[in-house]
Amino acid sequence: MLIHDQQKREEYYEAVQKKNSQYIGTFFLAVKTTGIFCIPTCRARTPKFENIEFFTLSKDALQNGYRPCKICKPTNHAYEPPKDIQKAIELVNQNIFEKVSDYQLKENGLQPEKVRRWFKKHHGMTFQAYQRMLRINSAFQDLKKGKQVTDSAFNSGYNSLSGFGYTFKVLVGDSPKESLNKSVILITRVTTPLGPMFICASDKGICLVEFTDRKMLEIEFRDLQKKMDAIILQGENEHIKTCKKQLNEYFNGSRKSFDIPLDLPGTPFQQLSWKELQNIPFGATSTYQEMAKKIGKETAVRAMANANGHNRVAIIVPCHRVIAKGGSLTGYGGGLQRKQWLLDHESKNK
Ligand SMILES: [Zn+2]
Repeated sequence: MLIHDQQKREEYYEAVQKKNSQYIGTFFLAVKTTGIFCIPTCRARTPKFENIEFFTLSKDALQNGYRPCKICKPTNHAYEPPKDIQKAIELVNQNIFEKVSDYQLKENGLQPEKVRRWFKKHHGMTFQAYQRMLRINSAFQDLKKGKQVTDSAFNSGYNSLSGFGYTFKVLVGDSPKESLNKSVILITRVTTPLGPMFICASDKGICLVEFTDRKMLEIEFRDLQKKMDAIILQGENEHIKTCKKQLNEYFNGSRKSFDIPLDLPGTPFQQLSWKELQNIPFGATSTYQEMAKKIGKETAVRAMANANGHNRVAIIVPCHRVIAKGGSLTGYGGGLQRKQWLLDHESKNK
């Protein structure tokens, strides 16, 4: 759909000027003078307001004769790793115990500088740190299974015990021995039509699904580690794999409910509220008043709102389905644009 509403156009233009990532996927801008269309955060120069047409879907821009921008690739999921980065990740995964050197990257036709920049920007860590985290993760799992520290160190590709201990401590916060009683939360980054998300899972189930640009995410991670007495390490397990698949189906409109174990530490009231959230069907909405009534605590409206705000598992525990009594959107951790998009998406695919 072409957006005509002047107020909306102005709001979108501001998002483009600010490169606001919360708007990714909620609209596409097409530039009349170049015939090219982009996502709101494209790093190409901001066109003049009067030269832009805004569309709801990338399909609409294509149908109107615009070509996808080569820089931001609006027809892909935002920030999907480019081909050469995917290749670098493959190299790492082939054997996580072998360090992928700059030399190897070059041998595979990759530019080490580009790989480093991408990791820094999208994982918040260097390519080397990413590899270290995978190795430490594997070593940690070995230790938990009863292997000796020395064995794990050497199996993880460290040729000195102190080097292993040091890296382990930097990443985990404790020495290999001290941290044995901790559990592991695995973290993976995925891309969606609304921008990249992090998925975290323990061995019991999914414990976090959030947009990577969510405010206070660092605090949420810290909070989660403390609550679960765990450390967060790069990696994937079966729950994460299932979650990725089901999220994908949700976004393409073919999935209406999720079927994944969740691991949600919280107060009994929070647990109850999150359960109630999961009872709001796809395509429907509720209010805090209604929810409070349903759990038999009519006066607990504010506590309900508070518990909702502490939900860590976006989309699957559908806090986006709660709106104000009068019908306005109220708040959303991932941004109101995304909330509106999710509600529209569900009502279209009901
Ligand atoms: Zn672009």
